[in-house]
Amino acid sequence: MAKQYETVIGLEVHVELSTKTKIFCGCSAKFGGKPNTHTCPVCTGMPGALPVLNKKVVEYALKLGTAANCQINRYNRFDRKNYFYPDNPQNYQISQLYLPICHDGCLEIETEAGKKKIRIHEMHMEEDAGKLIHDEWEDCSLVDYNRSGVPLIEIVSEPDMRTAEEVIAYLEKLKMICQYLGISDCKLQEGSMRADVNLSVREAGSQKLGTRTEMKNLNSFKAITHAIEGERARQIELLEEGKKVIQETRRWDDNKESSYPMRSKEDAKDYRYFPDPDLMPVIISEEWIEEIRKEQPEFAEEKAERFQKEYGLPRYDAKILTQSRHMADIFEETARRCGQPKKASNWLMGETMRILKEKGMDPEKISFTPTHLADLILALERKEINQQGAKQVFEQIMEKDVDPLVYMKEQGLLMVSDDGAIEAAVEEAMAENQKTVEEYRSGKEKVLGFLVGQVMKKMKGKADPAKVNALLREKL
Ligand code: ADP
Ligand code: MG
Ligand code: ZN
Repeated sequence: MAKQYETVIGLEVHVELSTKTKIFCGCSAKFGGKPNTHTCPVCTGMPGALPVLNKKVVEYALKLGTAANCQINRYNRFDRKNYFYPDNPQNYQISQLYLPICHDGCLEIETEAGKKKIRIHEMHMEEDAGKLIHDEWEDCSLVDYNRSGVPLIEIVSEPDMRTAEEVIAYLEKLKMICQYLGISDCKLQEGSMRADVNLSVREAGSQKLGTRTEMKNLNSFKAITHAIEGERARQIELLEEGKKVIQETRRWDDNKESSYPMRSKEDAKDYRYFPDPDLMPVIISEEWIEEIRKEQPEFAEEKAERFQKEYGLPRYDAKILTQSRHMADIFEETARRCGQPKKASNWLMGETMRILKEKGMDPEKISFTPTHLADLILALERKEINQQGAKQVFEQIMEKDVDPLVYMKEQGLLMVSDDGAIEAAVEEAMAENQKTVEEYRSGKEKVLGFLVGQVMKKMKGKADPAKVNALLREKL
């Protein structure tokens, strides 16, 4: 019988923090910008420049660590990781090796197979490097130091994952937590979340870990899934041929769907780590940790549970709405204002999602006032507008946050509630279609639909079809 193999995966995830300024200087930490405009002597490694720690970075790390059930090192230090590379102007990166801020936590993930805990080995604070641009000029590379010194948290998991599905669930969970905490937008494409995948295989049932490789340069969930499948197959093939897996860093090329070696695995000792003499140790008070624990928001799962209980939403709705904290907040306020949670949910899951998808927009970018959606739902309820008109109004709410009541009036979208006007239209339609009226009266009830249509046309769609229907039957 062929041997069975188990895949073992541990992740090192870098999350770029959305602080206003960089970790050790006052430069903007914003993504992008004209090259080398978010720079100063500190983040370009000028002689004599001294780093000053941004307190927000510590706060964000504590928030994430607390959310991931970590132990906190109250006594923290920064260390220098020494290496030369042109995107690293100091010739060292300030990181934490000996005393990382958080350690020994865990995150619970959920996949088809059920719930599972993934242990977190540690989390530490460090600075990002600049960016090299290789193909702009022909004969040389360019460097942009805007990203140099942008704060990062590196989250190192234990090798507890076994499938690509678990890896994606873990990354989604981290992303949800960071977004709910408001500490990072975690965009793989923009590089504000980057995952290095450490992978080994072993014979099923074996307790010993196999030799691992590390894959970098994975900037989408699709690429991560492909890389895991490709690397698993490559390693199994090597073992089947009686060869050894070499511990190395490999680069996954998602276009070629294969990986190639980048460098042999470096060791911590290669970097000659030592405590950074320019930075004081950071001592975190119990009070601060306590404060952060107290401020912890309600995360997606709890919120979804509550939405089901409090608003009677189906589980499906609750799960989708809580994928983004912003969306969940909009839902709650709309539901409270109009008192119709399921309707609010339908508008958000239906039209809102459709428009977001059409425009390639993030749910975080929704900027309308929930009262406006609530007012539209109530107007529909009062039959002041029909479904068709409401959709038209909602597009304007999404786009310009219009007040629906004002807009409906301005655009003449209000339905005619005046029975007299409808009656007149009914009579007119009957007079113009006498043959049809006779058909109806002789028992051909099917033609009623046609007559309703005629009346609606006269009313320019602004009448309640149910009312038209009733009036017609009466007159006929
Ligand atoms: P380094 O810092 O040198 O990259 P670590 O020992 O800190 O190495 O591990 C980095 C990551 O690799 C962790 O997420 C860990 O879970 C994972 N890992 C370590 N050994 C293995 C292995 N044999 N198979 C899969 N993943 C592993
Ligand atoms: Mg590593
Ligand atoms: Zn700077």
